[in-house]
Order: sequence, then structure tokens, then C-alpha cells
Amino acid sequence: MLSIVIPSYNEKDNILVAAKRIGSLMRENDIEYELLFVNDGSKDSTWEKIREAAEIDPNVVGINFSRNFGKESAIFAGLKHATGDACVLIDCDMQHPPETIIDMYKLWKNGDVDVVEGRKSSRGKESLLYKAFCKVFYSSLNKSSGIDMRNASDFKLLDRKVVDALNDMPERLTFFRAMSGWVGFRTENVYFDVAERNSGESKWSVKSLIKYAINSITSFTSAPLHAVTVCGLVMLLVSLVLAVNTLYNKLSGNSLEGFTTVILLQLFTSSIVMISLGVIGYYISKIYEEIKARPRYIVSEVLNKKEQKSEE
Ligand code: UDP
Ligand code: MG
Repeated sequence: MLSIVIPSYNEKDNILVAAKRIGSLMRENDIEYELLFVNDGSKDSTWEKIREAAEIDPNVVGINFSRNFGKESAIFAGLKHATGDACVLIDCDMQHPPETIIDMYKLWKNGDVDVVEGRKSSRGKESLLYKAFCKVFYSSLNKSSGIDMRNASDFKLLDRKVVDALNDMPERLTFFRAMSGWVGFRTENVYFDVAERNSGESKWSVKSLIKYAINSITSFTSAPLHAVTVCGLVMLLVSLVLAVNTLYNKLSGNSLEGFTTVILLQLFTSSIVMISLGVIGYYISKIYEEIKARPRYIVSEVLNKKEQKSEE
């Protein structure tokens, strides 16, 4: 059986469309399936729509969060509740073409693959600045963690083994896109064109994207901490050169000059020290958050008879 996890946040107009499109696609191809809609604390009638979808199609499972916990948490909640032999993650807005699920399914079924990654062959409608930002972000992640993330997306098929491996990872601060690569396993790529949003607007603002990027980097690599050390070494070299210069001035009797250098050095070093402290502080706050070991999400309601029976 194939579990299809669909994180949904304020997607009232997309739920029924998604359930219908994916459902009929599965039936056409004779694939046994379940559709797990994770309602990530939507402020609109998304949950009611999921109920409606569950009435129409008994394969629909609904998971309701007590508040908005973010897409990452929704993905992991879906993986936790999925019962299928493989799990597909797909966006609710139909920007990930559902037909690609069939390609993924076939690859998984025929070949010896455990992870099928959906990669964007074209990025759809995005601003140039956003594209440039993504490029820098992914290539720096790539260099620091060694996982190829170019044109990565959250659109993936994972074998049960991989889902279990991910469910066993205890961290609170997750970065799904990279974690599914980190666990390894035999991976294949499938390319897809990003479609236009079915309805509604993207949930990402510039601020939330920057936050997401910083979170992802710090939850996945400690490279910024090492960058602090490199900065320190560079400063040490600079200070060696200046030390020679200063001593030379002192010995040749010109030591009164050079106040500008002192001021510049002061400004420069103190800003580097402060930035470094900030980076370290950021990691400490991450440790603090992890150590509190709060749950990634809180489920207020699960909608599906099978699920409740198996939990009893
Ligand atoms: N999403 C979510 N929680 C959030 C934000 C988004 O579950 O806090 C879901 C959203 O419903 C959609 C998917 O994540 O199914 C991708 O969101 P969106 O389309 O806004 O992102 P984009 O496609 O613009 O990257
Ligand atoms: Mg989208």
C-alpha cells in the first residue's frame, strides 16, 4: 500500500481537488492507497474540507494539529501515522504534479530503489532573486554537508525502511529535505516541472524563508561554527603582520602615528567577535530547544476508523 502524506495549511480550496485527483489517479493505476492530510493548524475551513473528503473517500485519513507547527512537523506527523509500504510526500496545492507519483511508484516497484527524489527540472514562477538565493543556499549546504540538494524538493517517495529510519531520528529541529538524503539508501531521481498553484497563495514570506534557511543550515551542519575558527585564524595572521609593523614603528621612533590603525582594528575585531558570539549563541539556543525535548507537534484529532482501531 502507498501512503500519501499531504501537509495542508490554509488550503481550503485545494483539499477536495487534491483528494479527488490523487484518489482517481491511484484507482486508475490499481494502487492501494491512503491519503493522509495533515492539517497544520489552518485558520480557514481546511479541517472541515478534510472531513468532507474523508466522507467521500474512505482512504482519506485526517490528522489535526492543535496549532500551526510548520510544514516540517506536518511531514513528520504524516510519516509517523503512515501505514503503507511506501510513503509519498506531496504538496496540497498541486504544484507537484500527482502524475509523477506513478513514475515514482513504478521505479520503486520495479527497481531496487528505496528513495525516489523529486527534483525540479524547472522552478515554475519564481523571482530571479529567489532563484539566486536558492542556488547559494543549496550549494553552500551541499559543500558543507556533502549531500546533493540541487533542485531538491519535498516531493519524494520513501520505502518503509526509510520511513522507519526517519521516524527513529529523535531531533526536534528537522530539515526533511536533507535528512532523507542523510539516511542514505538506494536513491533515484525523478524530474518534474513545478506547476502553478491550484488555488490560494504561497505560505512563505521573505522573513519566514530566511528563518527557514537559517534553521535548516543550523539544524543540519555545524559549518558556521567552524567558520568562526577560520575567522579567528585570519585575524591572527593579520595581527602578526600588524605586530611586525608596529614593532618596526616603535623601534624606528615613529610610534605616535598609527592611531587610525588602532581604531580600525578595534572596530574590526569587536565586530568579528560579536558576530562569532552570535553564531555560537544561535547554536546554543538550538541545543536548548533540543534538550527541552518537546514534541515536534501536538495532534488534537485523528480522523479515520482504521487508525483508531489499531491504536486501541
Ligand atoms: N504548509 C504547511 N504548513 C505551513 C506552511 C505550508 O503544512 O506552515 C504546506 C502547504 O499547505 C503546502 C506545502 O506546505 O501543501 C507547500 O506550501 P506552499 O505552497 O505555500 O510553498 P511553496 O510551494 O510556495 O514553496
Ligand atoms: Mg506551493
